[in-house]
Amino acid sequence: MTKAQVTQDVLAKDEKYVWHSMKPYTPNATMVAKSAKGSWITDIDGNQYLDAMSGLWCVNVGYGREELAEAAYEQLKELSYMPLTQSHEPAIQLSEKVSELLGGDYVVFFSNSGSEANEAAFKIARQYHQQNGDHHRYKFVSRYRAYHGNSTGALAATGQAERKYKYEPLGPGFLHVSPPDTYRNDHSEKDRWGAQQIDQVMTWEMSDTIAGMIMEPIITGGGVIVPPEEYMAEVQEICERHGALLIADEVICGFGRTGKPFGFMNYGVKPDIVTMAKGITSAYLPLSATAVKREIYEAFTGEEQYDFFRHINTFGGNPAACALALKNIEILENEKLFDRSRELGERVRQELTDRLQNHANVGNVRGKGLLIGIELVENKATKAPLEGSKVNSVIAYCKKKGIFIGKNGMTVAGFNNVLTIAPPLSIEEEDLVLLINTMVDGIKQL
Ligand code: PMP
Repeated sequence: MTKAQVTQDVLAKDEKYVWHSMKPYTPNATMVAKSAKGSWITDIDGNQYLDAMSGLWCVNVGYGREELAEAAYEQLKELSYMPLTQSHEPAIQLSEKVSELLGGDYVVFFSNSGSEANEAAFKIARQYHQQNGDHHRYKFVSRYRAYHGNSTGALAATGQAERKYKYEPLGPGFLHVSPPDTYRNDHSEKDRWGAQQIDQVMTWEMSDTIAGMIMEPIITGGGVIVPPEEYMAEVQEICERHGALLIADEVICGFGRTGKPFGFMNYGVKPDIVTMAKGITSAYLPLSATAVKREIYEAFTGEEQYDFFRHINTFGGNPAACALALKNIEILENEKLFDRSRELGERVRQELTDRLQNHANVGNVRGKGLLIGIELVENKATKAPLEGSKVNSVIAYCKKKGIFIGKNGMTVAGFNNVLTIAPPLSIEEEDLVLLINTMVDGIKQL
């Protein structure tokens, strides 16, 4: 077979047998990757793409780090598996490291994905209240436009109706409030960009029925919604007043994406529970964690039957994944990638703002660290979201030039009008220049 025939064959089999995620929505599904190094992916035909989304916002240290492969390999040879009904050293060391990175006294429960980490958080929160004799606290508050995962509880917490309506009814007890979208001005400063709405909902629903509030410090998939500086602290104060636990979903924001080890660290709060996945291993292997403050953990140490957390997963905390995560965190720290994310993020945002703010279709450029969104509109005065085909044309332009960028948003049901970039925190500066120039050109051709 010629090279072209081999490619055709692979593509035909892919089409026939592989059920792709979100296929109708992504123009990129026809790329079959072969290898990747740093921020660059090579497909089976040898074409190269700059991955400005780090996969699904997750390859924080970049692709192809041999020391990560070696950490997993060495661990697999020594101890390939041990459930965390027992223990092993990589899990012990990683728990200690995560607790240290969180800057508090946290105990860590391991799972495999962000969705599972959030499910564990919901179960821990409900049982925590029960252990304290608070038997009616089962409801969770989250924000519209937020994404918290694909499993029924995490999807119930998700605030994007498009992702949910075909699968409903989902788990009951999840309430939604509006996000602190300062560009669309959903809330006045007086009602604290929606924090007061949380207070009202918790009051009207009866404080005694609220188990917790789950939030990403910065909503990512809903269109990079950066809240006002004081918002998260205000939410924490409201949760405390209502006896609700604050759960920070750090699945994307964690491990440097927003320029700090964790996103909540931008806002001077200390969440009761922190969930994390993606960047914990830079997606080299599946691993997630639900970290809880020690006083929450201690509610589970009683001797009554079922005082313990009756929750288990076969693969959570796999030794190789934990060993790899430790090495990944070492890279993040040694290469100062948290600071790098903050500094480069500020520069990229500034440059995109300077070059695009006068463009008729650019409503808003925003972000924190190497997490950046460009909201595209038909009309700057009405802020009507830019039509999907035009948003797609910018993405297609970038892809043609060899760059993958993302689109997110849900600013209006069905509209993904926010272009997103979240490159590896290790991205070369010259690649950032290429990325900025290409995006600017792609938007200018609108
Ligand atoms: N929370 C957030 C904020 C996410 O972005 C995601 C995934 N994109 C999840 C949870 C779910 O993670 P996973 O896909 O690993 O289940």
